[in-house]
Amino acid sequence: MARIFCVANQKGGVGKTTTCVNLAAALHQAGQRTLLIDLDPQGNATMGSGVEKRSLTTSVYHLLVGLSGLADVRVNSSTGGYDVLPANRDLAGAEVELVNLDKREKRLRDALAPFDADYDFILIDCPPSLSLLTLNGLCAAHGVIIPMQCEYYALEGLSDLVSSIKKVHANLNRDLKVIGLLRVMFDPRVTLQQQVSAQLEGHFGDKVFTAIVPRNVRLAEAPSHGMPGVVFDKSAKGAQAYMAFAAEMIERVKTL
Ligand code: ADP
Ligand code: MG
Repeated sequence: MARIFCVANQKGGVGKTTTCVNLAAALHQAGQRTLLIDLDPQGNATMGSGVEKRSLTTSVYHLLVGLSGLADVRVNSSTGGYDVLPANRDLAGAEVELVNLDKREKRLRDALAPFDADYDFILIDCPPSLSLLTLNGLCAAHGVIIPMQCEYYALEGLSDLVSSIKKVHANLNRDLKVIGLLRVMFDPRVTLQQQVSAQLEGHFGDKVFTAIVPRNVRLAEAPSHGMPGVVFDKSAKGAQAYMAFAAEMIERVKTL
């Protein structure tokens, strides 16, 4: 059975896509059958997986509105090794079209169901909003991985996200839970970051992943080569952290 996780945070630029792409590649390297779903019309996870978003004939948009099945949309990441359901600007239109469709928040869940046996992990890269697209991600998932920077305002945003997750849990998806908080772009030399990190551990306990992803320029450079950071430079500190995170996820799913 596939374990399905949304990587979500309604803030932009917090490391969702970087986390999705690198976790997918690290899981693949660890022998896990992995599918990455790009639910963001920006298509960054698509490009970061080495898939050209401008030349797609079918994409997640076609899947959500019912024009194509999953088998026609998925492609393999030549650089990362995992499978991808790619996205591009077309997906922005889905938001509007979905409103009039039946079971509009469960389209992704229903599309994935027949392929459950194909994968060990399915990761969903959510857009920076609590939109109908994100809702489709949350309805399809067993859990949410929340990447966050250890800054003062990060905690404020977190309570909005957690209350949305609770609402989805109560009304749409009883399976959904917060799997954990991942500290990303971490700089241990900044006192405030250490303080927020300690606060997170105090407040959320073992919901905070042990792996910490440092700020590392190699992770930021990798997408311009169409590669996950863990492939582009696997000896870099950021890549090592994502490999440790993947190992932690493999252990954590055993307890779910
Ligand atoms: P989101 O998907 O939440 O908008 P991204 O993953 O695209 O965020 O990250 C935002 C920017 O920060 C990107 O340019 C990315 O390359 C960079 N970035 C992400 N994680 C790191 C990191 N650990 N170290 C350095 N740069 C990072
Ligand atoms: Mg993104």
